[in-house]
Amino acid sequence: MRILVVEDEPELNRQLKEALEQAGYAVDVALDGEEGHFLGDTEPYDAVILDLGLPQKDGVTVLKEWRAAGRNMPVLILTARDRWSDKVAGFDAGADDYVAKPFHMAELLARLRALLRRASGHASSEISCGPLVLDTAGAQVLKDGIPLKLTPMEYRLLAYMMHHQGEVISRTRLTEHLYDQDFDRDSNTIEVMIGRVRKKIGKEMLQTVRGLGYRLSPPSGD
Ligand code: CA
Repeated sequence: MRILVVEDEPELNRQLKEALEQAGYAVDVALDGEEGHFLGDTEPYDAVILDLGLPQKDGVTVLKEWRAAGRNMPVLILTARDRWSDKVAGFDAGADDYVAKPFHMAELLARLRALLRRASGHASSEISCGPLVLDTAGAQVLKDGIPLKLTPMEYRLLAYMMHHQGEVISRTRLTEHLYDQDFDRDSNTIEVMIGRVRKKIGKEMLQTVRGLGYRLSPPSGD
């Protein structure tokens, strides 16, 4: 899962990036509305955290322009504590949720997890696929109740595929959703990672669809 953070306070921006990376996400950041708008308009994010008070272009305008252009990723807005009118303007512009500043990072992360789940059509807090259960709060995947030993990138890959189980996902799409924009992308890495994850979860669950990509699905008969 790849997240965009648009926040002009450098310290908060840094804290958000750090917390999100620790939670297992790929993270890009922007410090003003212009750059934030550009990134959200050109890169395929799974969700965006958008401050409303931004230099160059305010958050409500950024959001309105994304929505007008058909960008429908979930957007969580950051609002000032006592500005109820900001929340109204944010929701009217197409926001999916908000947290008021100052906020607890744990609350923001929980709201983000809920947005990501709902965006991929999962209502409950745990996503399962055959013997696998994705625990997004604990950033782990369990198989038959036992946590799998995954590297941070393997977790990111498997979490993305569990959100999108049953779909054929191309290598390009995986690359776009697993790495931030500064990462030196090499699609062979994806293939190697798929191979390692496949060994850990059981070969039959992670199929290669020749020429198209990969699909995660429960073992047949399940
Ligand atoms: Ca601000």
